[in-house]
Amino acid sequence: MAEFTLELNDDQKQVKEWLHGFAADVIRPAAAEWDEREETPWPVIQEAAKIGIYSLDFYAQQFFDPTGLGIPVAMEELFWGDAGIALSIVGTGLAAVGVLANGTEEQIGTWIPQMYGDADDVKVAAFCSSEPDAGSDVASMRTRAVYDEAKDEWVLNGTKTWATNGGIAGVHVVVAVVDPDIGSKGHASFIVPPNTPGLSQGQKFKKHGIRASHTAEVVLEDVRVPGHCLLGGKEKLDERLARARERAKSGGERVKNAAMATFEASRPAVGAMAVGTARAAYEVALDYAKTRSQFGRPIIDNQGIAFQLADMRTRIDAARLLVWRASWMATTGKPFTSAEGSMSKLYASETARDVTAQAIQILGGNGFTREYPVERMHRDAAIYTIFEGTSEIQRLVIARTLSDMPIR
Ligand SMILES: Cc1cc2nc3c(=O)[nH]c(=O)nc-3n(C[C@H](O)[C@H](O)[C@H](O)COP(=O)(O)OP(=O)(O)OC[C@H]3O[C@@H](n4cnc5c(N)ncnc54)[C@H](O)[C@@H]3O)c2cc1C
Repeated sequence: MAEFTLELNDDQKQVKEWLHGFAADVIRPAAAEWDEREETPWPVIQEAAKIGIYSLDFYAQQFFDPTGLGIPVAMEELFWGDAGIALSIVGTGLAAVGVLANGTEEQIGTWIPQMYGDADDVKVAAFCSSEPDAGSDVASMRTRAVYDEAKDEWVLNGTKTWATNGGIAGVHVVVAVVDPDIGSKGHASFIVPPNTPGLSQGQKFKKHGIRASHTAEVVLEDVRVPGHCLLGGKEKLDERLARARERAKSGGERVKNAAMATFEASRPAVGAMAVGTARAAYEVALDYAKTRSQFGRPIIDNQGIAFQLADMRTRIDAARLLVWRASWMATTGKPFTSAEGSMSKLYASETARDVTAQAIQILGGNGFTREYPVERMHRDAAIYTIFEGTSEIQRLVIARTLSDMPIR
């Protein structure tokens, strides 16, 4: 088991510098343009693919770093460059993790490479779970998957919403209900291969922030996928459903949900994205405060400004420590006895929201314009307290874990 250390090893330092270079030279200069265009920045994704940043290999290497710090370090650097573009680069990874977590070896080998395509023909993938009436309340999902035994096909019907890359993706990973009587235990995930009839893009959302990332509804009308597109396979699903039905019959004994453990492990990655955005805004504000003069001295000469910067930096470092702790726990198999994954996401996302707002204040009128990046960073930061579980849901998870009570 990897010893815990706060010092990055040489490999990690190299990766961090490499990603920082790409974020500074390629992502940051393109950020304002793609924010205005509100489109997926395909040329930037292609640049990332050419040098190996947009690839399964890169993602897997960070994912399997035995210290757990590979993913948080990578996320922080890319999102330091720009949140919208970075989400376009890592969005496929969210779908790939869905396959890695639940798929068979054959499914992983078949579908994940197709999710990325290659540098000459880049593809993206989408993970579709949320629905118009099932956001925080995942158990009220309505999209149905029904097995057609005669043809060994699954038939999917429903509407997904808020899907990052939804409709423009080649491969879509869709979560659907296979047994409506047992709540979220009756859900299963399916691969919908590229160009499958019946899958279409609904509304594309015009958003407040991360506008360089495509977010849309995905409509599924009698979408037929082969039996082998059920992630994990039918036998495993049948066993899992039988166990869940048995438990439901015997009075629903409370068991630690496997999906919950997965969320605890994935939430620190979102925390790391938030740390990247917060750090970016803090750096702009620090530079500005040192160079902007009023009343004959730099504005940082005033405690009112300097103390804000001190608080901003303290919160960013605290957020990073929580993220690193949770990532290390996930990788080394430590149980999340205090919902440490949720803690890291909660604290880092609220830090990003607050620090980017403070950065606008420190830049005064300039902070309020699109001539400076902190306005965009603040709009982008608003997503972190919403997706992958809102702040309220993180507090609910933490409170329930600490108290072992069904807090509502
Ligand atoms: C830009 C963007 C990208 C996204 N990408 C994806 C994606 O790729 N795939 C995907 O499946 N989903 C995605 N999502 C969906 C995202 O995860 C949901 O928006 C999120 O889970 C919240 O659901 P909701 O929007 O329906 O809000 P709701 O669940 O309706 O919540 C509304 C408000 O009520 C609060 N609330 C709800 N229940 C409780 C409670 N029990 N106690 C206290 N407060 C509560 C919430 O905290 C929130 O403040 C994305 C969303 C956005 C905006």
